[in-house]
Amino acid sequence: MKIIRSGDTCLELAEIREKEAFIIDMDGVIYHGNHLLTGAADFSAWLEKSEKKYLFLTNSGERTPRELSEKLLRMGISVSEKHFYTSALATAQFLASQRPNGSAYVIGNAGLINALYEAGYSMNDIDPDYVVISETPEYNFTKICRAIKLVRKGATLIGTNPDTTGPVEGGDIVPATGALIAPIQMATGATPYYVGKPNPLMMRSAIKQIGVRREDTVIIGDRMNTDIISGIESEMTTVLLLSGVTSESEIQNFAYQPNYVIDNIGTLLMG
Ligand SMILES: [Mg+2]
Repeated sequence: MKIIRSGDTCLELAEIREKEAFIIDMDGVIYHGNHLLTGAADFSAWLEKSEKKYLFLTNSGERTPRELSEKLLRMGISVSEKHFYTSALATAQFLASQRPNGSAYVIGNAGLINALYEAGYSMNDIDPDYVVISETPEYNFTKICRAIKLVRKGATLIGTNPDTTGPVEGGDIVPATGALIAPIQMATGATPYYVGKPNPLMMRSAIKQIGVRREDTVIIGDRMNTDIISGIESEMTTVLLLSGVTSESEIQNFAYQPNYVIDNIGTLLMG
């Protein structure tokens, strides 16, 4: 593990920049809530100018790539929708590979529903192959009861990601997929399968989408137990940024270490 600080000049930064592809976590890496983090706009421009292959990746399954592109545009960065990858897209690809043209009962938003339709799935609230849960403000008691009924009838329970909370403006939190799926899990005794981080499946399907090899790919994230572990388990180069949820002193508490630790994404372009 190499710690690189702003102002350091080192060969390692150039080595990272020479990689062919970048998978970049969003919250805590390029923005917090609705404000951009230091260097995010420059890094995004550099990816384009350098003709890198890249995906901005989020464990949330709520928004479509187009909605994510619009969110970044409101913050002042223009990124085409083809450069976003979500746990909803990974879930849809996973289910389509397991059971082509299957059906699902979904508690989720457009990000998930659109992804499933595009993967050849139909919506079914009678006898679906899968019950799929993701973040949504449309969550309610009637839907929980329906999901429980369908899982008891034999549908397989899937969560887009295991996160229990998500960030919102003002430092508050909202329940995320792991918390929303809990009542269905407890009432049925079913164990959900989660596709999003830290499942390395999400990283592997991301690099498949952009057509690169794992050894040519760098993962940049701010969370040890999701971004870094899934990067390590999919054998990619890992960069932990200190601009999000992890402080330098916490890194040693983990059994695994990132290849590089950098203060913020802008530092990657220096030295
Ligand atoms: Mg993050």
